[in-house]
Amino acid sequence: MTATPLFDVPLAPSVAITGLDQVFPVRRVFCVGRNYAAHAAEMGNEVDRDAPFYFTKSAHAVIPSGSEIAYPLGTNDCHYEMEFVIAIGAEAHDVTEANALDAVFGYACGIDLTRRDLQAKAKDGRKPWDLGKDFEESALMGAITPAVDFGEVGRGAITLDLDGRRVQEAQLSDMIWSVPEIIAHLSRFYHLAPGDLIYTGTPAGVGPVVRGSVLSGAIDGLESITLAIVK
Ligand code: MN
Repeated sequence: MTATPLFDVPLAPSVAITGLDQVFPVRRVFCVGRNYAAHAAEMGNEVDRDAPFYFTKSAHAVIPSGSEIAYPLGTNDCHYEMEFVIAIGAEAHDVTEANALDAVFGYACGIDLTRRDLQAKAKDGRKPWDLGKDFEESALMGAITPAVDFGEVGRGAITLDLDGRRVQEAQLSDMIWSVPEIIAHLSRFYHLAPGDLIYTGTPAGVGPVVRGSVLSGAIDGLESITLAIVK
């Protein structure tokens, strides 16, 4: 006998794939902290070369490019963080850096919205970052470009414009931890699997959004993204 669910819950969102009618269902969302030296410095942190560190967001936090959202709950200092996102398409456990890219389905632009005031309070109190990072509509995802259609991983420019003004601009080669290093390291702690997303950290220039802000982000070789805070 199969027990029936007490109620229905929505499936986690899926993400569009460039050039395909199919969509990419999201399983988990991992995020790398402090992966650009200039951003670590602007946040008052030193770069730790020992190992990358992570936080997670609910898969239900993912929203598509073009979204128009309300200003997030419970914060007076919501920040944008433009990021290069890895979409995992194959199982990967304890893989080497040399084999890490075999697990990649594709790449996308993303924005890691952050309730900076709540994150700062958590840091001060040596408490978890969840309230600062994992909240509704906090993970903007652009369409995924399959890896086979993407150029050399780890090269190209990453930019973000706020209301038409350039606020973040860096090179993917500025990342402290490379894409293969991140996948290999994370795969020692999780059985990475199709549907997993990895946000790889933001460059310098983070700052607040307000009601009425429009963000547009771009990475060479990927579909650009937009997000509007409308009320
Ligand atoms: Mn981030």
